[in-house]
Amino acid sequence: MAGKERKSKVIKGIRVAPGIAIGKAFHVDNDEVPIVSYGLKHDSQVEKEIKRFERAVNETERDLEKIKDNLPSEFRDHASILDTYLMILKDRMIYKQTIKIIQEKKINAEWALKQAIRRAGKVFEKIDDDYIRNRISDIRYVGDRIFRHLAGMGPLQVKCNSERVVIVAHDLSPADAAQIQLEKIMAFVTDLGGSTSHTSIIARSLNIPAVVGLGNVTDEVNNGEILIVDGLEGQVIIDPDEETIARYYEKQDEYESYTKTIIRSAHEKAVTLDGHKIRVEANIEMLEEIVAVFDNGAEGIGLYRTEFLYMNRDDIPSEEELFTTYSELAELIAPRPVNIRTLDLGADKFLLISGRRREESNPALGLRSIRLCLKEEELFFTQLRAILRASAAYKNVRIIFPMISGMEELLQAKAILCRAMESLERDGLDFDRNIPLGLMMEVPAAVAIADLLAKEVDFFSIGTNDLIQYTLAIDRVSEYVAHLYEPLHPAVLRSIKQIVDAGVRNGIPVSICGEMAGEPFYLPILLGFGLDSLSMTPRAIPRIKNMIRNIRLSEAREFTDTALNLGTAEDIIRYLQELMDKRFSSIFAFLDPPAPIFS
Ligand code: PEP
Ligand code: MG
Repeated sequence: MAGKERKSKVIKGIRVAPGIAIGKAFHVDNDEVPIVSYGLKHDSQVEKEIKRFERAVNETERDLEKIKDNLPSEFRDHASILDTYLMILKDRMIYKQTIKIIQEKKINAEWALKQAIRRAGKVFEKIDDDYIRNRISDIRYVGDRIFRHLAGMGPLQVKCNSERVVIVAHDLSPADAAQIQLEKIMAFVTDLGGSTSHTSIIARSLNIPAVVGLGNVTDEVNNGEILIVDGLEGQVIIDPDEETIARYYEKQDEYESYTKTIIRSAHEKAVTLDGHKIRVEANIEMLEEIVAVFDNGAEGIGLYRTEFLYMNRDDIPSEEELFTTYSELAELIAPRPVNIRTLDLGADKFLLISGRRREESNPALGLRSIRLCLKEEELFFTQLRAILRASAAYKNVRIIFPMISGMEELLQAKAILCRAMESLERDGLDFDRNIPLGLMMEVPAAVAIADLLAKEVDFFSIGTNDLIQYTLAIDRVSEYVAHLYEPLHPAVLRSIKQIVDAGVRNGIPVSICGEMAGEPFYLPILLGFGLDSLSMTPRAIPRIKNMIRNIRLSEAREFTDTALNLGTAEDIIRYLQELMDKRFSSIFAFLDPPAPIFS
């Protein structure tokens, strides 16, 4: 525009869905409603206030039901979030609590609701699960919708006109996104959010570039202004000049052709340039992820986290319920293998199982995982029987014990497994008598005795998420020490080496199933250890397979040997970065140095 002074500005955020979009900004106005506080003098006012709150809740319920009924088919995967919202709406934590606060403190509905949400936030904050902890945003979202009705503002309006746009919002929920015509959305950018926020999950599932956690992008950007959303580097460029736009169109073309190549070859094997085959498998938590497992070319399920079936409910799943789910999974994935990890519940996750809450000041070091299973033997025994029964039909089930820290623990767990086998024999129920048994290597004590443990199991699976946490004494879910959580710390690399060497000496395969396995930046170094397989979130598979096909195992071994002799993570990162620039520039044009594993 002639005469207009450019303000071209770059804002950095968190890259949560890759790709590049260049288009006009469109604001979704879901600003917070201002909330005031005032006291109520008479009981009649209290009654009126409760009625006003109930009316706002009912109106919110009607809005959500309407969105649910008109949900576009692309949002089918997210339909359950609307049920969650509807549940939250009438849940004790918010609904009953707000009414109680109005009655007890004699204050207005807005202020009481705000307090109820704050209290719920405190409960969720303590949960040792990234995904569940982030669900407090669902409660806040439902709260905002009630606030809007209390303020007489009505539901959020989201209408885009003719062209495709970049959605700019403070935060975005599936319910908001479902009100926008999807074919009109080029990208999402939001002030709030992290990699597990809803905007990120939706963007990834719709394959739309997104950058979140931008702070105040809603204040910086005007409606209709041109934006470049760089979902590869996690930045947004506001009002770019022509030269920048041209450069980004080029980058967009390169990225799209690279993506097409890796997707096309996702179903081919991952063989290094010098002929070594590496198995690439998927990590899943729910049966529903099986479609992604197939679409992304996984050669099996390297890690099935079984905690999900035990959470968000008031009872403990029965053997039959577990058996049905595990059998279905085994059938769907057959003849490929599924590695079922036994319960890895932490003390905090018991919050969600009624009456079993345990207070611990340091849950990561507390009664969790295999320790809990050995204490609650019936719980463990039931799960083992269900897993064993599911192994009968296709003989493709494998068992993994998590968080083993010593020989006694392993032998005790094995004894219970034997007991489960004997009880099935007695009941005349079939199972795979040669079912492979592995253990997760994630505790330094286990690493120190890896050679002894290797004699007792059929395979090792390295859980780097916990191995890093326990080796470096860094709480993996604490934002205060997140900057110290370093996968390339020499102590972590040496631990991996020790585990792999113990596996090789005892003739058992070793794989990695922590987040590190799905991050391309770490691939050369991990391959160089001589691992047999890698297991990762399904979406990471095509890219990792593509990289494996572009590397020689012999050169990877050299990188790893050199890296093992460097004294600091910084030196190792610099060394890897140089290598990437020299050796993989075409692939790494699309990647930053190590993305934060827990953002
Ligand atoms: C790990 O610790 O690396 C792992 C895969 O297990 P989880 O993330 O479930 O603890
Ligand atoms: Mg773990």
